[in-house]
Amino acid sequence: MTENFDVVIIGGGPAGAAAAITLGRYTKLKVAIIEKAEFDDYRAGESVSPSIFTMLAYLGIERPQLENVHLPSYAHAAAWGSTELIVRDLLFTGQGNGLHLDRQKFDTLLLTEATNRGVIVYQPASLVEINHDGDWQIEIITNGNELLLNSRYLIDCSGKIAVIVKMKQCRVHKEDSLIGLYAYYNVPDGLVLEQKTVLETTLNGWYYMTPLPGKKVAIAFITDADILKGLDLNNPDSWLSHGMGTLHIAQTLRHLNTPLAFKHYAIHSRVALLPVKDNWTAAGDAATCYDPISSMGIGNAISSGITSARVAEGFFNGNFEVAQSYSRSLLDHFETYLKMRHGFYTAENRWPDSLFWQRRSKNPLER
Ligand SMILES: Cc1cc2nc3c(=O)[nH]c(=O)nc-3n(C[C@H](O)[C@H](O)[C@H](O)COP(=O)(O)OP(=O)(O)OC[C@H]3O[C@@H](n4cnc5c(N)ncnc54)[C@H](O)[C@@H]3O)c2cc1C
Repeated sequence: MTENFDVVIIGGGPAGAAAAITLGRYTKLKVAIIEKAEFDDYRAGESVSPSIFTMLAYLGIERPQLENVHLPSYAHAAAWGSTELIVRDLLFTGQGNGLHLDRQKFDTLLLTEATNRGVIVYQPASLVEINHDGDWQIEIITNGNELLLNSRYLIDCSGKIAVIVKMKQCRVHKEDSLIGLYAYYNVPDGLVLEQKTVLETTLNGWYYMTPLPGKKVAIAFITDADILKGLDLNNPDSWLSHGMGTLHIAQTLRHLNTPLAFKHYAIHSRVALLPVKDNWTAAGDAATCYDPISSMGIGNAISSGITSARVAEGFFNGNFEVAQSYSRSLLDHFETYLKMRHGFYTAENRWPDSLFWQRRSKNPLER
């Protein structure tokens, strides 16, 4: 069977859904999303700042739809550069609270909104083959059926895998090989967690803790891939004893039972140089990935998803200025982000001999 579309989006995370909803809501283009996962496993990236609400309102998703399902987040706390835990209350940002997301439900909500806007969502669907011969021909298998999708335009929203960015051998700038080892726990009865994120630096990296909806909590250790290998934290005992070496995270860790799951996530920083006149673009992590210290991932995925929809619309109108300024702005934002990230990491200077902190002491823009 063959189906014809104006735009096919690969990946139904926040970027792909935002691109699809924008196209569905604000254009007459015929749009499909291909999403390989069923959203029935852990999905990383859960803390969002209050600015998310404005972007979601543009997509037709209002605050009450989120606040009944996800946990309000009231503060960020960090022991970074010293042992003192400094708390920054979101109350003083003037925008109210952020959220601790249940990512499965959040991503499902966005794809449901895309469907409501007339977008065809193929989920779960696996890619068999992609050809780019003028238009795009994308062969998929969904619900046991083979399907050929013909599309005039394609948006790569496949996350860090960046299927099309790789296929097209785009120039990319990759910064590091940061990795996150996440442990997910049930919160035992009687333990009350404050609704805030907690960061704490250690000799070889930093810890991150966030409460999750459904009486769960995630504790993550963030370091470089080679350093993590040497630490051997993959069993519950070594994980626990390493975590108990912290001052603040240990206060919660000591009350938790065995983790429900351990997950490794690649969290390196990277930016791609996107084409301007070709009939494809990319958004979200497929285009730019940020260190989670920046808390920019989901917000960036949604805003770049929205902009990539404008780039696609520009392509059909013969207006390539949108693509030009989008591609340029990704590079500019990445440069600003590198400066900001350098500022964060150099605020910690208690371990001058640590490889992890040494690697981050150099200004990336001066290399
Ligand atoms: C450990 C970790 C912690 C993070 N913490 C935060 C945080 O606290 N706050 C924050 O804002 N951001 C955070 N982020 C970043 C944030 O999760 C990402 O930036 C965001 O999810 C990117 O959205 P996306 O839609 O671009 O990609 P994803 O969310 O990765 O979605 C891509 C989708 O594409 C699908 N896909 C991939 N390949 C194919 C294929 N071949 N065919 C079909 N579908 C495909 C995948 O199944 C996936 O659903 C974190 C990331 C990680 C890894």
